[in-house]
Amino acid sequence: MSAYREGDKVVVMVPSRLTKAEEEQWIATILERLEERERRRRPSDADLQCRARELSRRYLSGRADPVSVRWVANQRTRWGSCTPDDGTIRLSTRLRGMPGWVVDYVLVHELAHLLIPGHGADFWELVGNYPKADRARGYLEGVAAAAHLPLEADAPDDVADIHHGDGLHRGGEYPHEAAG
Ligand SMILES: [Zn+2]
Repeated sequence: MSAYREGDKVVVMVPSRLTKAEEEQWIATILERLEERERRRRPSDADLQCRARELSRRYLSGRADPVSVRWVANQRTRWGSCTPDDGTIRLSTRLRGMPGWVVDYVLVHELAHLLIPGHGADFWELVGNYPKADRARGYLEGVAAAAHLPLEADAPDDVADIHHGDGLHRGGEYPHEAAG
């Protein structure tokens, strides 16, 4: 017996020999387990904040100290964003359910922006402290390509983006992102 998600549906495979009542019982149990498994993979805002602190300590000498880290559902073309002025970080709920090391990468990326706003060499050097940075960027690019996300998501630097909160995005390196 197994269960998996297909879009917004859950597909449960059960042996055909079960009675209707047994089947319902099994489906309920399987859905419960699936939910539990997913809950473990979907940290809350508080978990996220805790995780960010830990990552800052481990990879950024604790210098990035976000005031808040939370999930947001309204970021269509960015995996993450931050506002250095008030120290807030937001992660797209599209990251939920992805491997922890991918979510960690986006957190490290945004934490690094609290220290360095742009995407210059110094920024990438800092992000590079996180050992799986390149792998995670590749993973996110793959997800974006597979989901046919808007063009902006394909830009190499857009896997996690900065939002300055004042309507200005970083420099002119990737001008197509200015409207994001
Ligand atoms: Zn960025």
